[in-house]
Amino acid sequence: MPETTGPLVRRSKILIIGSGPAGYTAAVYAARAALAPMLVEGPQPGGQLTITTEVENWPGDESVLGPDLMARMGEQVRKAGVDVVGDLIAEVDLTRAPFLAIGDGGARYAADTIVVATGASARWLGLESETEYRGRGVSACATCDGFFYRGRVCAVVGGGNTAVEEALYLTNFAEKVYLIHRRDTLRADRTNQARLRANPKVEMVWNSEVAEVLGDGGGVTGVALRDTRDGAVSHLAAQGLFVAIGHDPATALFKGQLRMDDEGYILVAPGSTATSVPGVFAAGDVQDKLFRQAVTSAGMGCMAALEAERYLAGRDAHAIAAEGGDVRVLA
Ligand code: FAD
Ligand code: NAP
Repeated sequence: MPETTGPLVRRSKILIIGSGPAGYTAAVYAARAALAPMLVEGPQPGGQLTITTEVENWPGDESVLGPDLMARMGEQVRKAGVDVVGDLIAEVDLTRAPFLAIGDGGARYAADTIVVATGASARWLGLESETEYRGRGVSACATCDGFFYRGRVCAVVGGGNTAVEEALYLTNFAEKVYLIHRRDTLRADRTNQARLRANPKVEMVWNSEVAEVLGDGGGVTGVALRDTRDGAVSHLAAQGLFVAIGHDPATALFKGQLRMDDEGYILVAPGSTATSVPGVFAAGDVQDKLFRQAVTSAGMGCMAALEAERYLAGRDAHAIAAEGGDVRVLA
């Protein structure tokens, strides 16, 4: 088992893994609680919002570019004195305290508490044209981008609850919404299916997959569809394509160490960010498949830091008490 002490180990009271809204918020709170946090940025410094354009639902900013917002958060974190490390955690050992995280270059980080804020990413269809128009008509988040499609035509890909809810949400803005599904039955639950059927703006496109995203260089103009039964190709005009075929939480690293649901989201205690390992907290998209928003992730980052602070206070108090000191332990 790797050592958690020694000259090659960087030691902190709280290690935050991830630099999206959840990780950055946890870092600010932990720094202000004088916990001298260390934050490992990971493969995408700033997280998912760095790959989008306008964000119009971040409180206090009518409209802000995602990369700018995350750069500002990063600056705030650094000014608060957080030790920000450009590394990617490749391995963790949560079986004993202090916990150990190992970077992909071999650096070792030992910490009394860990906040896991590694986020999630949308699954994409894997088409070159989809990548080309991402952010210019192709999106994986109707809550984020639906507003831009007022009076326009949108298409959603997928047959699960997310796809149906995205399609229904888009009907608040779009004049028409196509739901493209590769089979002839939906995976979504009955309630969602009934809502879909009752909505006159939605039209189902069964047994179809998107073969190509069509565009004029500036934005999406439609999709080329392939019939999954006979391969016949047809065209559908739309200005927005929302891909809703699932998300993957970045939790492979914690498999077998933290309890997860069957899709790999980290399980936390209700109303808390506490994971199955005392002292390890999870915040943001890594534990939330319902809301997946910057503001909810930031809120959970705040919760995780406060819970970590409370945990540390309890631990420190217990340790001092064990040595004969007189302390009050936080509830
Ligand atoms: P993320 O932002 O996913 O950040 C995860 C962090 O973990 C990254 O910094 C990554 O580098 C790090 N990490 C991952 N693995 C490791 C590892 N092994 N070691 C170390 N670090 C690691 N939400 C809104 O509220 N409004 C919007 O308008 C909006 N628009 C969006 C547009 C797009 C295109 C996308 C993709 C998402 C959008 N969202 C929006 C959703 C929002 O971005 C997410 O809900 C939010 O970023 C989740 O924050 P997070 O901190 O949990 O994780
Ligand atoms: P999901 O249930 O896994 O559904 C993904 C859908 O995308 C499926 O219909 C699948 O088709 C389709 N798909 C997958 N890969 C595809 C590809 N490459 N091309 C075309 N289509 C593809 O994912 P989800 O809808 O994101 O939901 C995830 C979980 O969260 C589920 O458990 C869901 O019930 C839950 N959730 C619940 C609610 C709610 O209760 N209100 C809301 C949202 C999500 P097939 O059907 O053919 O496999």
